[in-house]
Amino acid sequence: MLASLGRGELERSILRQHRQFDRFIDQWLTDYRALDKTIYCQPGCSGCCFLAVHATFPEAAAIAGQLSRKQTTQLSTYISRLKQALSATSDLKSYLKSHRQSVGPCPFLDGRNNCSIYPIRPLSCRALLSTRPADWCTVDFSELDKWDKLAYESSLDRQVVAWPSHFIAATQNFGRTLEDQMIETMQHEKGWALSGNLCAMVWLEQKYQVGQGGNFAARQATEVLAAEGLDHEFLLCLSASSYPG
Ligand code: SF4
Repeated sequence: MLASLGRGELERSILRQHRQFDRFIDQWLTDYRALDKTIYCQPGCSGCCFLAVHATFPEAAAIAGQLSRKQTTQLSTYISRLKQALSATSDLKSYLKSHRQSVGPCPFLDGRNNCSIYPIRPLSCRALLSTRPADWCTVDFSELDKWDKLAYESSLDRQVVAWPSHFIAATQNFGRTLEDQMIETMQHEKGWALSGNLCAMVWLEQKYQVGQGGNFAARQATEVLAAEGLDHEFLLCLSASSYPG
């Protein structure tokens, strides 16, 4: 739980970051819409919730402390499917494809395809703004024929998107900057930092309280990841500034 991280600088940092980021996005959207341009994200669209979601560990720990029993059950099912997908893939491209197709959507989607943890969703979810209707967010571009792909790419506004995707670049870039700051803060506070797949970290925190106590060492986090088969390069990144003995 976030409480186990000490309700200190990390918790304050997350709240500060989310407020700062929401203000940034509001202003960005106001400016963009003033140019008569459209962002297609709306309640219930949920296409981006089929992608593998990135987060920092403190964001995941904040979510872990607030899940209902139903959300926890959905999370466990997702983790089982995630482990299966990881064991069956050897390259990043096929992992991302199987995440979309066989792991399925984020376990925090509710029955109406809305985010059930919306106020505490991570920066990467806040950052994803679509310049195309929701159908495009679930397209597997490796399955488009050459001409459809060319037509799609040439239709994008390269000045604002993270080309060749149709998602806004500025919000993703600022989100990554804030994530890097959070990772630095965690390194400073705990001597190690974890980032990567949101759901894997929420599940780890619920099961092991890996963020608990100031003395939980990077070495223990490493052992937990290995024991659970989650020490996979596509999934999580553990960095340590020290390995206390
Ligand atoms: S946390 Fe919410 S917005 Fe993000 S992928 Fe999950 S359901 Fe979608």
